[in-house]
Formats: sequence, C-alpha cells, structure tokens
Amino acid sequence: MTLAGSRAAGDSLDALHRRIIRCTLCPRLVRWREETATVKVRRFADEEYWGKPLPGFGDPAARVLLVGLAPAAHGGNRTGRMFTGDESGNWLIRALHRAGFANQPESLHRDDNLSLRDCYIVAALRCAPPNNKPLPEEMANCRQHLLDEIRLLKRVRVVVGLGKIGFEAGLKAFRELGLVDFRAMPGFAHGAVYRLGAYTFIATYHPSQQNTFTGKLTRPMLDRIFQRARREAGRERR
Ligand code: SF4
Repeated sequence: MTLAGSRAAGDSLDALHRRIIRCTLCPRLVRWREETATVKVRRFADEEYWGKPLPGFGDPAARVLLVGLAPAAHGGNRTGRMFTGDESGNWLIRALHRAGFANQPESLHRDDNLSLRDCYIVAALRCAPPNNKPLPEEMANCRQHLLDEIRLLKRVRVVVGLGKIGFEAGLKAFRELGLVDFRAMPGFAHGAVYRLGAYTFIATYHPSQQNTFTGKLTRPMLDRIFQRARREAGRERR
C-alpha cells in the first residue's frame, strides 16, 4: 500500500469515526452510557469516562478483521477504545501480541502506544448496553456504522467473529455489502472456518471473563484461531 493510499483510507476512517462518536440514535443506550460514565465504579472513581460510542480501532490496511459484540461499561466505555481497560481486552490483546498482530501485550488506555498490524477491531454495537444485552432495534440501528467501516477497510480477507453475535454480525454485514453470498447462516462453533468467495470467516468463543475464567476458552484455543487467521490472510485467492 502506498503512503498516499494509507492517508486517504485514514482520512475517510477519521471522518466516519467522528460521525460514530456523535451518534445518539438509541435513547436507552445514550442514557446508559452517560449514566455509567457519571456514576462510575469505585475502582475508577477518579477517572474521566469516555461515555460515548466507540469507533473501530487498528490498522486501516488490515487483512484480518475482528468483530466483537459491544464495549464494556467500565472497559471501552471508560477508556474510549475497544477492548481496552478490562479483562477481555487483556486476553485479546495478549493473544494478538503472541500472534504478531499487536506491538505490545497490554491494552490499558487510549494513549498506551498500542498499535495493531494487519488487524482491525470493530463491534456490532458501539455503545455499552445494560447487562451486555442490546435490544434487536439497537443492533439494527448500529448496523450502518459496521457497514460503513467495513466498506473503508479495502484489504480485509479474513473475518474473525468474537462470539456468536459478532460472528453473525460480520457475516450479515459482508452479505449486505454484496461481498459474500449464502442462504442459511453458517453455524457458530469455536474454530469453525468458512471460505465464502474471497473471504474466510472464523468463529471463536468471545474472550469474556465468563469464558476465560471457566476455561471454556483457553490461551492455546485462541492462539490457534489467530494462527489460522494469519495463514488464511496469506492464502492465494483466485
Ligand atoms: S448503539 Fe450505535 S446506533 Fe445506537 S447510539 Fe450507539 S452508536 Fe448510535
């Protein structure tokens, strides 16, 4: 990719990110994200919360796209960056670092110098939902942000769905953009791989504490997902 190409993609993404950050389409989520940012939790009582929607994050020339569910109330909603400042983020970024997609194993705050290479992270929903449970109409409202962001990520070839919701949101978005075609939704199972047209979709359990604390998702399991993603990204396509 040329430097000029990189700048153009970066500029367009910047404009989209500014739009996403200003979004107020879901009244329930606007209330929740702002209330959480005001009330806070004791351990972060001295911090200023972000309390706004989250744009995607990563390398605009990435071949590997990660699709998550939504920011956590005291993680991304606090720090202003996806998978930053909570246990899920620690797990994910450590795995990306082991796989060579991240320059460091920590994701603490927006100015921590974390940089992703060949990898970009988006989410199906950009505002933290109460109890991590978005309503169907909120998912539908936020769909446009996902479509707009994918449209600007021209080099993506591999989509890793984090959890069933992220996995299906990625597949639906690529179908809606006319990039892949399928009738029945491909089944979700950890490690499932689907090659559809020029793209490979990989499913993984979400690196939530519910999965990592219970051993449902282990480090070797997540490492194998990203090793596969790397191989698929380098695969010759016709
Ligand atoms: S969830 Fe998405 S559509 Fe709803 S307010 Fe947040 S950014 Fe806007």
